[in-house]
Amino acid sequence: MQKIGHYINGKAVPGAGSRGLPVYNPATGAQSKELAVATVDEVNAVIEAAAAAYPAWTATPPLRRARVMFKFKDLMEQHAGELAEIISFEHGKVQSDALGEVARGIEVVEFACGIPELLKGEFTENVGTNIDSYSMRQSLGVCVGITPFNFPAMVPLWMFPVALACGNSFILKVSEKVPSAALRMAELLKQAGLPDGVFNVINGDKEVVEQLLHDKRIAAISFVGSTPIAEYVYTTGTAAGKRVQALGGAKNHLVVMPDANLDQAVDALMGAAYGSAGERCMAVSVAVPVGPIAEPLIERITERARALKIGPGTDKEAEMGPLVTAQHKAKVEGYIAKGEEEGAKLVLDGRGLTLQGNEDGYFTGPTLFDHVTPEMSIYKEEIFGPVLSVVRQNSFDAALKLVNDHEFGNGAVIYTSDGDTARAFTNGVLAGMVGVNVPIPVPMAFHSFGGWKRSIFGDHAIHGREGVRFYTRIKTITSRWPAGIRKGAEFAMPTMK
Ligand code: NAD
Repeated sequence: MQKIGHYINGKAVPGAGSRGLPVYNPATGAQSKELAVATVDEVNAVIEAAAAAYPAWTATPPLRRARVMFKFKDLMEQHAGELAEIISFEHGKVQSDALGEVARGIEVVEFACGIPELLKGEFTENVGTNIDSYSMRQSLGVCVGITPFNFPAMVPLWMFPVALACGNSFILKVSEKVPSAALRMAELLKQAGLPDGVFNVINGDKEVVEQLLHDKRIAAISFVGSTPIAEYVYTTGTAAGKRVQALGGAKNHLVVMPDANLDQAVDALMGAAYGSAGERCMAVSVAVPVGPIAEPLIERITERARALKIGPGTDKEAEMGPLVTAQHKAKVEGYIAKGEEEGAKLVLDGRGLTLQGNEDGYFTGPTLFDHVTPEMSIYKEEIFGPVLSVVRQNSFDAALKLVNDHEFGNGAVIYTSDGDTARAFTNGVLAGMVGVNVPIPVPMAFHSFGGWKRSIFGDHAIHGREGVRFYTRIKTITSRWPAGIRKGAEFAMPTMK
């Protein structure tokens, strides 16, 4: 069985951990690898390596740091297919989707290539007579990234290219369910010329996180994952004096107005609800049809969902793969049972799906509930599977109130052909990422993003200029030089007076 270790100080380290965790192939249900959970000594070693590499890296001119990023971008493009295969094998998502996640991650590297421009500060001549003032942004030190299972490459790439370009060293702790893409990216960074110790990967679960949260040598933590852990990481990390940004869970609504283009709304809901088996933070899990559009919308989605092609990630025809683990499948299917008990109408049931040749894979088919109400747990809680709940509303105001009353505020979408309605929605909605006739409005790398409400803890959104702000701190210098006595040019031979 292949063993997964760590990447410390420019080298792959096998991992001395006495505790191992299984890594599965979700399409077959078979264990494919074993991950060594880092020991306390190994976590110490990784922090030491990152701390030792930091001074020289932060003193490296931004232009040279950018050149490493340019090379890394090239290498990521060359190896995108290989990375997509690694992701698909451990996560289960179809390869075209995995390739998309790698491409979205590379865009952040492209953004980081512009770091010399992004780090430029401000200068004011004569803030007082003969006094000048300037400010600049400096790196923080050793930064940590803790990431979820659903984007093994893209979410880490939201963080480390910007952190490194700003002059920090970095320790990445990815989800123990999907560890291999991070290790491959570490090798590519070394190949791109990044000095040893500047980027490291440490594998493990909550014990490793706990140690990272309390170690004084760590300056900042970026976390993406579920809301309870995001809140814990934020409160614990900030109490230990660290800068923390922690992005949490979601329950994204898509409002369909009576004047929406029905074909487009159906396409949008199909991709956003069932793509990646609903395991996306920006997946749409609640459809909110307003008025009479509900009937044709539900009819069309049912028809399309029944025809959805489900298969292992390696199947080029497949539109949706398996869920990540057996436990996660049990959790998602538990919610389907709960929805029925709570009185929602189960229009399409994804349970009991078996695929020939992949009988033990963690597949759950597309599921659709109608007549869901805000009191039901399938509405309140994040399911993170291919389960779409329809909550019918009678007016735009009621639909907007529904979205705004939800605990989470990651993304929200409206489908309409009326500009005034769209504007009222974008103005009034309490969510960080908003789509108008765009189903998964995840901003590009040069726009920052993050959720609202309990979808984020901390003040900084991720990547873009907000990312640069998160990974740097401002220093403002005010300077005066004593006025010298100017005597003008002297033409006689200088002599001591
Ligand atoms: P998770 O919270 O279980 O795990 C995230 C990370 O935290 C992992 O690295 C894990 O090892 C670690 N962790 C888990 N339990 C811990 C504990 N008790 N103490 C300390 N660390 C712990 O999340 P997941 O299941 O891997 O990912 C899915 C979640 O991530 C969903 O809620 C999804 O919405 C969210 N997500 C959010 C965004 C966003 O942009 N807001 C993006 C992607 C995923």
